[in-house]
Amino acid sequence: MNTSSEIMEFDKFKFMQFTRDIYVGHGVLQRITEVTKKNLRGGTVTIVTGKNTLNIAGQKISDILTAASIDNHVVLAGPADEENLSHVTDVAKESGSGMIIGVGGGSKIDLAKKTAYYLDVPLVSVPTTPSHDGIASPRASIKRKGWSVSEEGVMPVSIIADTAVMIKVPFRYLSAGAADVISNETAILDWKLANRLRGEDYSSSASAIAEYAAKELIEKAHLIMPDVEESVWLVTKQILASGTSMAIAASSRPASGGEHLIAHALDMLAPNKAIHGEQVALGSIVTMFLHGGNWRGLADTYRKIGIKTRAEDYGIKEESMIQAVRSAHRIRPERFTILGDMDLSYNAAENALKITGII
Ligand SMILES: [Zn+2]
Repeated sequence: MNTSSEIMEFDKFKFMQFTRDIYVGHGVLQRITEVTKKNLRGGTVTIVTGKNTLNIAGQKISDILTAASIDNHVVLAGPADEENLSHVTDVAKESGSGMIIGVGGGSKIDLAKKTAYYLDVPLVSVPTTPSHDGIASPRASIKRKGWSVSEEGVMPVSIIADTAVMIKVPFRYLSAGAADVISNETAILDWKLANRLRGEDYSSSASAIAEYAAKELIEKAHLIMPDVEESVWLVTKQILASGTSMAIAASSRPASGGEHLIAHALDMLAPNKAIHGEQVALGSIVTMFLHGGNWRGLADTYRKIGIKTRAEDYGIKEESMIQAVRSAHRIRPERFTILGDMDLSYNAAENALKITGII
């Protein structure tokens, strides 16, 4: 018979953070007033945006808040690096900010996320493009000493994704956002592998949602096309689902595996050639091949949504691509994937890239 002293102490612990209010659709930018009234605990509102995104949505948000007599100010920032981060944080601190609104494609939301984290105030995410899943995740990508690293930020309390705003950006960004979600397919294979080989915690509910998001876009790939607001709607909804899977897992694992490591390696080896979702697409074709999965089907889907699947289409040199695949595992050694924990041999990397037609 068990006595209480023989029962193993239960010590499992998990922390999950979710977004409370999500608005997606035509004209939802107007909702900023009610979202602000609900979340502002006092002080002023800091709107973090860039030069272009100020014109696309930042100024409009400031005008809407001003019309509602809500004290606000705009901080213009450049890329998500240490210098811009300390500038934004200083301005927000000095002005007594009680809430941060990030308005932009990615880097402005990253800066806003990290500033909200430092100041311990609520963050509202207003994406101007559905180009990747960072708009709905708690992770912030900040460039420190030339490296972009994913760091802890805060989960947005609210996301306002206005399809009328997002339809205005070039189609390339929408394709890239869809590719970022579709790449969950390989991220999940890597997660399962890490679970089997390394005993890493695995959440089947998080994995099911991430996979569902990818499958929805694979099935509806023919509906993702330029100048159609419904396409923005379709992709944004699955970006949000992907964000939920990361919130459940309390990690980016369900949406980020070896394909993301390759994308980060390309950030360094072939900077400013392809955008995040495009790099991830190339990476996932390779890792799907290495997993022995249906890489042909995956590559066809990417092409269907307008993603180019050859490195040279982006001006990425063969050698850079090979080195990216070989060295990607070094970027985040704790994230075990099909890329293993040693450099892939030169021949294996070259072979995978040649067979899949990437080089
Ligand atoms: Zn991504």
